[in-house]
Amino acid sequence: MLNIVLFGPPGAGKGTHSEKLVETYNLVHFSTGDILRSEIAAKTELGLLAKSVMDKGELVSDDIVIGMMRNKIKKHKDSKGLIFDGFPRTTVQAEALDRLLKDNGISITAMLLLDVEKQELIKRLQKRANNSGRSDDADINIINNRIEVYNKQTLPIIDYYKKQNKFKSIKGIGTIDTIFGRIQSVINTL
Ligand code: AMP
Repeated sequence: MLNIVLFGPPGAGKGTHSEKLVETYNLVHFSTGDILRSEIAAKTELGLLAKSVMDKGELVSDDIVIGMMRNKIKKHKDSKGLIFDGFPRTTVQAEALDRLLKDNGISITAMLLLDVEKQELIKRLQKRANNSGRSDDADINIINNRIEVYNKQTLPIIDYYKKQNKFKSIKGIGTIDTIFGRIQSVINTL
């Protein structure tokens, strides 16, 4: 199985490259952000709870997102592989993900960081706001907060995967095809 954590700050291109990985390697894509937005659209209790947090660019609680992943992993444990996009976002989530995978007899193959500098992220997110309809992309203060939350709460996960020799950094600047070529080169070494 090819089980990838696609990692990086907001606007790094995780969603775009997840789609290409799904097409190329026939993987199953889990985006906690997408799942949460569909809960909001369906006006579920979980959606209502998550919305106020997401609107500020803060993180939804670990328990909620870990709980969301439990059944999904179990359901797809016999697939060609899994892509985790936007999850884990804290070390607690990374540890929980390893436990959930282990319970199903599987494990993470590699964590791929899409490395993009802050000014480029801001440019991309503001451009994306025109099409995505995402309120958290439309407000510069929320964008800045999401990047700060990433730097403080999410970046430390890199160490977690480095210790397991699973961390790979990929330059996330260039055309989509160039960047995807870099991703494929790394995957070929796994
Ligand atoms: P994303 O679509 O990955 O940019 O996520 C949008 C928002 O959903 C984030 O700013 C968080 O508020 C929330 N979110 C998504 N994934 C997670 C996660 N793994 N842990 C906590 N909050 C999350």
